[in-house]
Amino acid sequence: MALWFSETASSGHRLEWKVRRVLYTGRSRFQDIAVLETEAFGPTLVLDGILQTTAGDEFIYHEMMALVPLSAHPAPERVLIIGGGDGGLAREVLRCPWVQRVTLVEIDPEVVEVSKRYLPGHAVSFADPRLEVLFRDGAQFVEQLDPQDRYDVILVDSTDPEGEGPGRLLYAPPFRRAVARALAEGGIFVQQTGTPFYNPETVRDVAEDSLAVFPLAKVYWCIVPTYPGGLFTFIAASKGPDPAVPRRTVDWPTRWYNATVHRASFALPPLLAELLPPAMRAGAAGL
Ligand code: SAM
Repeated sequence: MALWFSETASSGHRLEWKVRRVLYTGRSRFQDIAVLETEAFGPTLVLDGILQTTAGDEFIYHEMMALVPLSAHPAPERVLIIGGGDGGLAREVLRCPWVQRVTLVEIDPEVVEVSKRYLPGHAVSFADPRLEVLFRDGAQFVEQLDPQDRYDVILVDSTDPEGEGPGRLLYAPPFRRAVARALAEGGIFVQQTGTPFYNPETVRDVAEDSLAVFPLAKVYWCIVPTYPGGLFTFIAASKGPDPAVPRRTVDWPTRWYNATVHRASFALPPLLAELLPPAMRAGAAGL
């Protein structure tokens, strides 16, 4: 009898993955943690019953979350990652030779430990001397940052705001204002805003509030096969450069990102554009 992992996307839609082996299950102070060896996507991290990342398709999400802001920014030397405890996003950020320091603020040390044991492809980043890992609540960390401490790029790779997990603090307006203060002049902020098919309110609310805080904010998207509905969005808010325009050349091997995909990812289908404030829709048309 085969074992299947099932995630509920909505009352009428479930996603299921065939499981070869359960590699780990446990509960930290913050969440249920499981790592499953799935037949189709390999080792898969699940937090509180929600699929987070798989060895099979994580490169899409991590390349797009890292390389869009890092190629749009003229000189991104200091990067802050909130969440991202699996290490995959930090790996893509650290492939950029112009990045000098990465601070990763992850609330749950267990996620990092589990990732080091079962997701070696993600966790390779933890060996990089440019990376500093802090086990803190990201909302608190940003709120309490020293005014001298500024970052060129801030990336929020957290669990979703739905439910009772610690991720919801990172979608509240006060956090976005604290991020704006922590962002250096010309800085770029990117946050995952989920799938518009099941949680349209997330991308809508974050987009509206980002426009109230930053001089420029745009939505871009990619396809992640293991996320509900496949279509996955990000908000890119900027204190200067247009995040839709690649300025730096990514000349190392990638499997999803390139400059053409970068530009195309800001072209929004009407279904997505209609969720956004009018000021964002206009910008979405141009490639
Ligand atoms: N790529 C995944 C996605 O888009 O759903 C996210 C992966 S990563 C595992 C999410 C991480 O965010 C988790 O390790 C979780 O512990 C962390 N996290 C959630 N809320 C946080 C907070 N307030 N501060 C710091 N880390 C947080």
